[in-house]
Amino acid sequence: MSVLVLRAPLAGWCLPLEQVPDPVFAQRMAGDGLAVDPTGGVLHAPCDGEIVLMKNAKHAVTLRAAGVDILMHVGIDTVQLGGQGFELLVAAGERVRTGAPLLRFDLDQLARRAKSLVSPIVIASGGGIARRAAAGTVAVGDFFMEIAAVAAPSTSTTTVPDETRVFVVPFDHGLHARPAAQVAAALRPFVAEVTLAARGRSANARSTVALMTLGARCGEEVEASAAGADARQALDALAMLLSPKASAAPPVKETPAIPPRIEAAIASRGLAMGPCVPWTAPEIAVEERGAGVAQETQALETALAAVVAALEALQRDARGEMHALLAAHIELARDPELRERASAHLNRGHGAGHAWRQATRATGDVLLALDDERMRERAADLRDLENQVLRVLAGKPPGTTREFPPGAIIVADDLLPSQMMALERARVGGICTARGGTTSHAAILAAAAGLPALVAAGDAVLGIAEGTPLGLDAEHGWLDVDPSPAERSTLERKIAQRRTEGAADLAAAAQPATTRDGVRVTVNANLGSFAEVASVVAFGAEGCGLLRTEFLFLDRRAPPSEDEQAREYQRIAEGLDGRPLAIRTMDIGGDKPIAYLPLPHEENPALGLRGIRASLAHPQLLRDQLRAILRVHPAGACRILLPMVTDVADVRFVRTMVEAAVRELGLARVPSIGAMIETPASALLAPSLAAECDFLSIGTNDLSQYTLAIDRGHPQLAPRLDALHPAVLRLIAMVADAAHARGISASVCGALASDVDALPMLIGLGIHEVSATGAAIPRLKRMARTLDAGECRELARRALEQSTAQAVRELAAVARAHARGHYIAPVPSIQSGG
Ligand code: PEP
Ligand code: MG
Repeated sequence: MSVLVLRAPLAGWCLPLEQVPDPVFAQRMAGDGLAVDPTGGVLHAPCDGEIVLMKNAKHAVTLRAAGVDILMHVGIDTVQLGGQGFELLVAAGERVRTGAPLLRFDLDQLARRAKSLVSPIVIASGGGIARRAAAGTVAVGDFFMEIAAVAAPSTSTTTVPDETRVFVVPFDHGLHARPAAQVAAALRPFVAEVTLAARGRSANARSTVALMTLGARCGEEVEASAAGADARQALDALAMLLSPKASAAPPVKETPAIPPRIEAAIASRGLAMGPCVPWTAPEIAVEERGAGVAQETQALETALAAVVAALEALQRDARGEMHALLAAHIELARDPELRERASAHLNRGHGAGHAWRQATRATGDVLLALDDERMRERAADLRDLENQVLRVLAGKPPGTTREFPPGAIIVADDLLPSQMMALERARVGGICTARGGTTSHAAILAAAAGLPALVAAGDAVLGIAEGTPLGLDAEHGWLDVDPSPAERSTLERKIAQRRTEGAADLAAAAQPATTRDGVRVTVNANLGSFAEVASVVAFGAEGCGLLRTEFLFLDRRAPPSEDEQAREYQRIAEGLDGRPLAIRTMDIGGDKPIAYLPLPHEENPALGLRGIRASLAHPQLLRDQLRAILRVHPAGACRILLPMVTDVADVRFVRTMVEAAVRELGLARVPSIGAMIETPASALLAPSLAAECDFLSIGTNDLSQYTLAIDRGHPQLAPRLDALHPAVLRLIAMVADAAHARGISASVCGALASDVDALPMLIGLGIHEVSATGAAIPRLKRMARTLDAGECRELARRALEQSTAQAVRELAAVARAHARGHYIAPVPSIQSGG
């Protein structure tokens, strides 16, 4: 029997477990140990070991060392904080050394919000305590406990169960530390081997830590299997804690009745008709035990190589966001840490599929626990990659997990970018999601791919049976379920008409757009990376009105160097072949945190250190970016656009930096500097900003979010987040007027710029330049050519008088109807007086 010495993981006051204000810990249900009332905000490793993390929780860390699980639970009842105030510094499966920082927590926040700060540190399994520190002050690294280690109980069993029952988790916060300890304690009087299975994984029910890592949430089913003489009694004991299925379970979310027409928000305009295909990725079964380490290792290597080859082949034909996502998947498939985690499982005798699944899921769990939208997307990418490799191991092609019938309309709860990628490959007709927002990543991808998409349709869509004919109208914003023959033929006629128009629009896309009465309308493209440049040029973009440079800054460990940025901007400028290019400085921070910037955790990131504020807090990063932009040749090829400006001080400060960089680089001229108008403050101050800037660009995504006080990713409120809301239009009008008074341009670059219905209003408000998603450009140009700017002004005047977005939309629909066929007949309701 070996001895394991634990060093104090927290600074503070050490106390016996009996003094912990929680009966589960005080009665040692989670294990024997000590507690610390902390005075410092960092939890450290008490010894060398491997990290085990709970799903969706950041308030506790388990360290596995020499067959012993040491559970360190910061505070009491802290699960209900949902991770707020905690920052995990390690990943599941990571090996750490004694003293390594594991978890940072905000002592003040915990003191205010948690039941108690007292933090139990218990031996959840695998050893008995031989010696422990006395009550009193401890510093990190002081002697804490000595454990006589014994072998850890097996976390899986191959025994055939004698009895199986399905329960429902009744605990508010799922199977977290306290209930898991209660389950383990309830089984102590019995000898039966008991496992609980949930979410495709199983765990030894006697191990608190293993149960926690299942991540079973309140209301979810868990299957309990018991084998041994008292199997039935053991399950009876569990029944005292867990709810039997379909009895005391919390109410299951009901799928509402399906109406014949379901209203939804438009994420990507277009029409589609096709069979319903509910999006579900079936779980692929894997064998836990392998046929030998060498054989399984070889199988995994071969499968990974096949997947990488398939991804690379796809990447060769992909463009834009798809290209970038495929690159991310290839990187993940080659990731050394993932492979290391998988080989740890292979070396334990596990099968290739099991090892790969464990590795991807452990990493995915850590990403999910980070409570960050982009990281959740990466977790979904991992899930995709898991499936691709498992498919190859099962002798199938790696590609999509589903075969889609032609024209399929994919119906999903929500779609992640990686899932979008699979959809395009299958050439689906359209997408409708129950949740999601109109400016979400997936929505931007759908628009870039020209795929009609509706979001925020509500749970009713999830009840539509596979194969049901659907009519998706992402022009009006509804989904017709099993439309009548008459409705079908109307929609089919419209689809055919759009197809013909689309071909004609594309043929004329390279021509400039001028209204019938001679007003020139410039249609630029928004870009997110070099990969999109060729396609937007083919769509007729006259330049780039917004290059989102975040692609260079996110998902990496160190910021891009000035040289790397200069190279990237240069090739984009060259791809645009002399067309103007507005480069937006990094819009990071807030909900786009980056690992190498120590930005604080924020309660409300949309109102925090984001955009230009984050840049000004890290002037060296901004300086490097500005220099990289200035180095693009020919000199002056790029304009500089500043995100999230709220007043002139931001612009003045950056201008001083640009001027300094111009001097350093020996350039002759300061390039054009513009501000994005994305907040009511900047719109209201547009006259002052116009005096300081060379151009203004209105970001209607954020401007609507801040004006209407609706989170741009909010699923339920998505239909109300309409940039044609008269309050937003009034702000746009103020900006356009201020820009005209100063003789500078004001363009629109938010999603509203890609909305053909909005174009007449924008032209009427005096916006003669837009920057849109590439696929929308041909249609926008055609629309502009059919318009009369005088009529548009009258239309805009009437729109500004409206009091709801709905009323503005109705006016826009009238204008659209009259613009059809390259002709606007005089519209009595919107006709100008002269
Ligand atoms: C906007 O807010 O409208 C905008 C164009 O910026 P982003 O969507 O990148 O926040
Ligand atoms: Mg914005």
